[in-house]
Amino acid sequence: MIPFLSLKDITAKYADEIHSAVQRVVDSGWYLQGKKNEAFEQHYADYIGTKYCIGCGNGLDALIWIYRAYIELGIMQPGDEVIVPANTYIASILAITENGLKAVLVEPDPNTLELDENEIEEAITLRTKSILLVHLYGRCAYTEKIGEICRKYNLKLVEDNAQAHGCTYKGQKTGSLGEAAGHSFYPGKNLGALGDGGAVTTDNKEMADCIRALANYGSQKKYVFKYRGRNSRLDEIQTAVLDVRLCHLDEDNHLRQKVAAYYYENINNPLITLPSRMSDENNVYHIFPIFCERRDDLQKYLKEHGVQTLIHYPIPPHLQECYTDEWNELSLPIAERLAKQELSLPISQVMTEKEVCNIVELLNDFR
Ligand SMILES: *Cc1c(COP(=O)(O)O)cnc(C)c1O
Repeated sequence: MIPFLSLKDITAKYADEIHSAVQRVVDSGWYLQGKKNEAFEQHYADYIGTKYCIGCGNGLDALIWIYRAYIELGIMQPGDEVIVPANTYIASILAITENGLKAVLVEPDPNTLELDENEIEEAITLRTKSILLVHLYGRCAYTEKIGEICRKYNLKLVEDNAQAHGCTYKGQKTGSLGEAAGHSFYPGKNLGALGDGGAVTTDNKEMADCIRALANYGSQKKYVFKYRGRNSRLDEIQTAVLDVRLCHLDEDNHLRQKVAAYYYENINNPLITLPSRMSDENNVYHIFPIFCERRDDLQKYLKEHGVQTLIHYPIPPHLQECYTDEWNELSLPIAERLAKQELSLPISQVMTEKEVCNIVELLNDFR
């Protein structure tokens, strides 16, 4: 069977380095907010190209903290609006609504699958304060025009970089293009831990200080609480693992790009559509999505031939039960069509050439 993603093989690839890094933390007697955390935060900030990196509990928290900081710093008020792509993972939306802000869903461009730059201005109102730009599937969602819109309407550009570690736009890493970015180190992400983890990157010192406090009970000084925070920390074992995997991130992303190139150059079936091909600088291929009107048949066929696939994502956020009151009536035909037709092929740094060829052959034989 070809699995969708073998975390076991991904970890095994650097097993010796990971084992000894974890062992050193275990033996050190220091498990939270210590030297490993500090080192990883510095390395990751350097990698992304920002002044600050603040580790936190997970990617959802990272995004929640960014908007909470805007509220604590008096830059946003509950009820303010944030523009977000309609076809994102639910966590992007939760980070907005969790803070009492209003998520305004905007359709993606069906070719790039990213927020449609031509649909944004229509969604802007007097209460719009920010765009949450999601680099979905590892594809760079930033465009010159989106940057211009943010400047023109004075909107804070925030990036959801949970799926795009290592992706760049004109030589600059995603996660450094806006004022702040949320990153997830969920095990299946391109840069994954052996458990939950996340981080915020930013150049803004006030935001960094505020988030560091929020994620530590709201405290900047021991036993003195400036904010009503929570406990949302990245631990020493996870940062030790992440530090090892960060050293290999570019090389691992390159291997994903090679798999993707093979898919792009060899999948040839009129029943299957691929999204527009981006250059490798702009795509780290967290997910390789294909589209098919008979998606469910295709998934079943691949399964019967030993290939596991997933769907990202089968139900768009506005049709989820948790948002029925909010978006009952909303019609977002592009996001809805993508959800009906999307199928994610296996892609990773540990796939063999034989596996990739086998998948392509099966796809091309599908009738
Ligand atoms: C994974 C993911 C998140 C959330 O990250 P967690 O670490 O799982 O909380 C947020 N946004 C997107 C787009 C994601 O893919």
